[in-house]
Amino acid sequence: MVQRLQDKVVVLTGASRGIGADMARTFAQEGARLVLLATRVETVAGLASDLGLGADRALPLALDVRDEAACHAAIDAVVAHWGRVDALVNNAGIYMGKAFQDYSHADFQAVLDVNLFGVIHMSQAALPHMRAQGAGRIINIASSAGKWGSRQQSAYNISKHAVVGLTRCLALETAAQGITVNAICPGFVQTDMVEALKTEVAKAQGVDGDAMLAAALTRVPMGRVLNPSEISGLAVYLASDASSGMTGQSLSVDGGMVLV
Ligand code: NAP
Repeated sequence: MVQRLQDKVVVLTGASRGIGADMARTFAQEGARLVLLATRVETVAGLASDLGLGADRALPLALDVRDEAACHAAIDAVVAHWGRVDALVNNAGIYMGKAFQDYSHADFQAVLDVNLFGVIHMSQAALPHMRAQGAGRIINIASSAGKWGSRQQSAYNISKHAVVGLTRCLALETAAQGITVNAICPGFVQTDMVEALKTEVAKAQGVDGDAMLAAALTRVPMGRVLNPSEISGLAVYLASDASSGMTGQSLSVDGGMVLV
């Protein structure tokens, strides 16, 4: 089988679970050398072991994406280890569901620190190496919440709109340097995060979590929560040579929910 990411060095944040863990599995099947990042090294080392990836195929590292210096140190470690960064997947994210009036300044800051500033820190760390290579791929995992309004999650929604905006701006600044910057906008995907959404938004709305999700799914033409594996295929495409002509795009994988 042709491996579309043969020996490409792919840096993946939020690799420990959910969509990130599935992307790690899929990227590994496509031949990538993986840098697996999450807040605790045990989780990503365990994932590498579960996937049968030895030290020549996976570099597990602890990283809090809120820490700018640590992001630069992580990328420096990757370059020291493998000499290059072919693709950066900014996947780490947190969710917080509340009515707008109930968010504190600290709540907004907490969500933006991970979902937006994490993307900024990692991109600023990786870009000088991509520019020196004359090639690179940045893939931001945004959300359908980055394309439309939604109730009881304004902090999350703002952070994902910002990621879509950053994707466009960064694409323009890097397009002539052999670098592409694109985003994926998942809809409802079965991970810990969708469970948090069920609990927190349902609480803010004063309804039962399952009933809240069932109501939300009436806006999804496919009528179901997606599997993480339904996101990973697009991430492979965006990291591969096949997507060399596209940049600045934010592509929805959401069961038909948001048609822009
Ligand atoms: P998840 O299962 O909750 O996993 C979140 C990941 O982010 C974990 O690997 C976590 O690492 C990592 N993370 C959180 N805070 C971090 C920090 N400060 N520094 C470094 N890593 C951190 O979430 P998911 O559903 O897979 O979501 C992945 C991405 O998809 C997120 O950006 C999310 O916003 C987006 N998304 C998800 C959905 C959905 O329905 N699930 C929909 C649209 C978009 P630890 O294990 O170390 O905490």
